[in-house]
Amino acid sequence: MLGSDLPASLLSDMDFVRQSIEAFYRFEVTVPAPLPLPQEAYYAPRRRYRAERLLDFLQEVKHEEGDRIMGITAVDISTTKDGYEDWGILGLATLDGTVCVISTFRTGPRDADAPLWKKERATIRLGKTVVHELGHNLGLPHCPHRGCILEDAMGSVSTTDREYTFCDDCLRTLMETHPDIVVPHPVPPWPQTTPVGP
Ligand SMILES: [Zn+2]
Ligand SMILES: [Zn+2]
Repeated sequence: MLGSDLPASLLSDMDFVRQSIEAFYRFEVTVPAPLPLPQEAYYAPRRRYRAERLLDFLQEVKHEEGDRIMGITAVDISTTKDGYEDWGILGLATLDGTVCVISTFRTGPRDADAPLWKKERATIRLGKTVVHELGHNLGLPHCPHRGCILEDAMGSVSTTDREYTFCDDCLRTLMETHPDIVVPHPVPPWPQTTPVGP
């Protein structure tokens, strides 16, 4: 986790993050003590953090922590995308790499006062984003199949709500490229249909 003042909701979601990873990938997951956000990643004009600088930071940390590292934070993160200089995102990963960063900032209300279904939805969105970014780390590009977990969010978190698992093509690719890592028949820890409100 990244940040010195992490919300309780993020801390309590770490079990679900672990379940999400283990449902899809044979990684041994550890949750190290949180690290402060590197100030060199702060983008003052928009008061948020540049995701690629967070990846640089994590790349350096990685050597101490394990083969791969995922940074999860609650602050707003952004990158340059599709001609936008500073575009807010859910996560960013190195393609065919070992680092990724994910933010809960766009997953919806997570505070104690939020309705339960919104908090559940936010947790599920986090889990799906985790699986999505690790897919990039394993070399998968965005997938054109609607509802595939590797679908491009295109700037809207609601894209994740129609996702459940990999499409057959993405799963087949992973089975070919990383047979030792990918779980052959993943059973996601989230329901087929994302919770909606009353
Ligand atoms: Zn992506
Ligand atoms: Zn796919």
